[in-house]
Amino acid sequence: MSFENRKTPLFARIAVNVPHVQGIFDYHLPDEIRDDFKLGQLVEVPFGKQSVQGIILAFPEKPGVTQTKAVRKILDPTPVVTPGQIELAQHIAEETLSPLGVTLQAMVPVGLSVQADTQYRLSPTSAELIKDGQALLPEPSPSQTRLLDLLIKRGPLRGRQIDRALPQKNWRKTAGSLARRGIIESQSTLADPSVKPKYERQLQFIGDPDSAQGQMGVLARKGYPEALARRQGTLKLIMEQDDSVPLSVIYDKFGANLNDIKTLIKRGLAEIIEVPVLRDPLADLVITPQSAPDLTPAQQAVWQLIMEGFQKGSSKPYLLHGVTGSGKTEIYLRAVEETIAAGKQAIVMVPEIALTPQTVTRFMSRFPDQVGVLHSELSPGERYDTWRLARHGALDIVVGPRSAIFTPFPDLGLIVVDECHDDSYYQGDISPHYHALHSAIFHARNSGAVCILGSATPDVTSRHQGERGSWIYLALPERILAHRKSIQVQLNQTDFDPGISRYQDLDEDLLMTDLPSVNVVDMRRELKAGNRSIFSRELQEKLAETLARNQQAILFLNRRGSATYIFCRDCGYALRCPRCETSLTAHLSDHELRCHLCGYRRNIPKSCPKCGSQRIRHLGTGTQQVESALKELLPDVRTLRWDRDTTRKKGAHWEIMAKFSSHQADVLIGTQMLAKGLDLPLVTLVGVVLADSGLNLPDFRAAERTFQVLTQVAGRAGRSPLGGEVILQTFDPDHYVIQAAAGHDYADFYQQELKYRRELGYPPFLKIIRLEIRDKNPKSAEKKAGVYAAALKGWIRTEGFRSTNLVGPTPAYFSKIRGEWRWQILVKGPNPLALIRDHHPGPEWIVEVDPPVIL
Ligand code: ADP
Ligand code: ZN
Ligand code: ZN
Repeated sequence: MSFENRKTPLFARIAVNVPHVQGIFDYHLPDEIRDDFKLGQLVEVPFGKQSVQGIILAFPEKPGVTQTKAVRKILDPTPVVTPGQIELAQHIAEETLSPLGVTLQAMVPVGLSVQADTQYRLSPTSAELIKDGQALLPEPSPSQTRLLDLLIKRGPLRGRQIDRALPQKNWRKTAGSLARRGIIESQSTLADPSVKPKYERQLQFIGDPDSAQGQMGVLARKGYPEALARRQGTLKLIMEQDDSVPLSVIYDKFGANLNDIKTLIKRGLAEIIEVPVLRDPLADLVITPQSAPDLTPAQQAVWQLIMEGFQKGSSKPYLLHGVTGSGKTEIYLRAVEETIAAGKQAIVMVPEIALTPQTVTRFMSRFPDQVGVLHSELSPGERYDTWRLARHGALDIVVGPRSAIFTPFPDLGLIVVDECHDDSYYQGDISPHYHALHSAIFHARNSGAVCILGSATPDVTSRHQGERGSWIYLALPERILAHRKSIQVQLNQTDFDPGISRYQDLDEDLLMTDLPSVNVVDMRRELKAGNRSIFSRELQEKLAETLARNQQAILFLNRRGSATYIFCRDCGYALRCPRCETSLTAHLSDHELRCHLCGYRRNIPKSCPKCGSQRIRHLGTGTQQVESALKELLPDVRTLRWDRDTTRKKGAHWEIMAKFSSHQADVLIGTQMLAKGLDLPLVTLVGVVLADSGLNLPDFRAAERTFQVLTQVAGRAGRSPLGGEVILQTFDPDHYVIQAAAGHDYADFYQQELKYRRELGYPPFLKIIRLEIRDKNPKSAEKKAGVYAAALKGWIRTEGFRSTNLVGPTPAYFSKIRGEWRWQILVKGPNPLALIRDHHPGPEWIVEVDPPVIL
């Protein structure tokens, strides 16, 4: 072998994608196309008797097996994943115990990742017989008739298409026997990618200008001046244009028809070409370009440090902790600017686009035509287009939810994770169960990119990283007074007195403002005073005042866990497990309370164990109830609801948001969704209907999550010179979470929470792996969980995992999902990953490493 030949790879390690088989296999590269192979390419390879898709992960010197098959063909010359992404996939697979193939598949757009299938068709002899009107079988069975009729009617079909046409029929056996008798044929196939670029037909000038001029007068027969004018106009236009012109434009502009076009083509003056076009979902959005303001001194200080990261190539992520309205987004925008100036690209992650339209719009205004937006309402085609543009570096920025981390940018320079504490960055529903925050940190470090994690309420684990110095902690402690210009206009136009004496000097360049004051209202006292409404007297008053001033209010309802716990309406006492301190969950059908952490159970008490009151019950208030109670109180009020029900429709989030911000409603009533990103000048009152409901979920992060959502919601008020206030209704006013949220005291919350985590052995002090088994039969779910837990206990002992403990097995909090019973085991310890990696329970189990939610 000559030295030169050695540079060309001989073998490829490929992640193949076959249903239920996601494995890595070695192949050899056929001589003819060996030079064309690249890392990350999508190729077709033989697998058993089928042809399947795979992604090239590496070019090993020697294959891992003695006999290799040849790669069949390259499906797409441009790699579908970058080398950096392959490393990211490997990292995710190792850290989350997910199969590498599944992880890679999550990186390429749906539809591009078609899987192998078998195609069925009538055999040529059968086709002849049918043409002659003859029967294929003397006495066909019903299942044979069904399948044959389908193939006669629809022609060749893939297995998955037949599955859809004949649901719940075991047709494959029938197909097998028909194939053996030569009546039908089967063949493995690889379906074409279901998403393809969209093409547009355009007309291009190809002739020689002189000859074209010469023909100008004779483009139509004599006596047809209109046709002549159309053809002359078209010809002139395409001659002037360097580029081809869409046929639709020509039809539109000159009223031309296909005959006109054909004439030009026949005379050798033009040709039709197909040009790929982009489906741009944001094309209709009106964006006003904006320039960057000067940074405030606090922003300047933060920026200085981030700049160092850009210059020196920092490997540590920045944790940007700043209250809502403190100017974090402005820092992100600066960082993006810096990235683009360096010729690199940026990924900006936001919890959910529909909930953060203002953030997205700001990126688009600052960087017109450079932003690609990914969100849940895009069609696969639109998604594919954005992905393609990013892959070629034709976009500078992608803004999107957690999946945006998989954008295949050629030269990644920045990853921003906004509201980095948000649970939506974790993929809990399907495998791979990755956390986009952890992925961002790894991917940025591995790509030499800067990583900025921003939050008003960092989760305790993140804040702890900042404290220990593994991350660089940056603070923006003060709120910037926004909307001064727009509100000033309003002040001049109307005659209400908003009481803004603090901010008289509106011409000053920049003002800082206080966070809104928070009033804690004890709902037990309301009940004692005879007020049974869901609104305290104070909230009633404030709502009326706000409306009288022609301003707006938000009413927030924490739906999380509101229906499942039992608490006393007189003293606020919530029933907790005597062993675990977590709330007991009501299982109303069994009249029982259960601890889902340790399995403790007791009956539902008739009276409060603490104060003896009979008014102990479980709770559940919906937005609809709040709305009708509000209308009873203030008959003229114009309301909008923002919850799961009102946002099912496409575009609903934007609509609600637009209506409320243009003041077509006075009060917005909503759940968790409205905690994010809203920045509205006229909102001067935020009412939290019941602050403590989320506190009682049996999850070690229940307190943290409640603190976060309360802080976020409170942050919606008082963002303009009009000021604002928050009313927080609770049955548990002394709880440290309520106290800390009311005082905007993150530090206090953090200290208390950290202490509790240390005492009870939770993250950041220990790591958790959650293992879940599902089964239609509750007994067998319980049994499987028991068997594995017993084995785990043995390994913990024999392999010296000293500080590692099991919690459970117990039924999961939502003990039954889609007809299947869920049992779970939590493994807590300094390094449970090492234990489970060696003793994985198998593909039947759901394994989650450090999940943010353990319900
Ligand atoms: P956050 O992302 O922390 O909520 P923003 O970046 O949205 O904060 O800033 C809050 C408000 O202050 C916004 O209306 C923004 O336009 C404005 N703002 C931020 N930075 C500046 C600045 N340096 N000069 C003037 N206004 C600013
Ligand atoms: Zn317990
Ligand atoms: Zn009580």
